[in-house]
Amino acid sequence: MPHCLCGCGEETAGGQFMPGHDQRYRTDTENMVGGAQALRRLVEEALRYQRGEASVSDFSDIVRSILIPTFP
Ligand SMILES: [Zn+2]
Repeated sequence: MPHCLCGCGEETAGGQFMPGHDQRYRTDTENMVGGAQALRRLVEEALRYQRGEASVSDFSDIVRSILIPTFP
């Protein structure tokens, strides 16, 4: 059986998460980057980079500007 992706160590009945643990995983992920707004901005900037609308340098600077204030 697969283990829950949240890191709790429990085995699922075949899915990716134990019931309700997908929300825990989502919240933990948001907290890793400083909240839902920061996570959204990271994803939006990654998509902009993927579409070729930002250089590696620009993307790197943006990622640092989003994450460094949270994790000095
Ligand atoms: Zn779990």
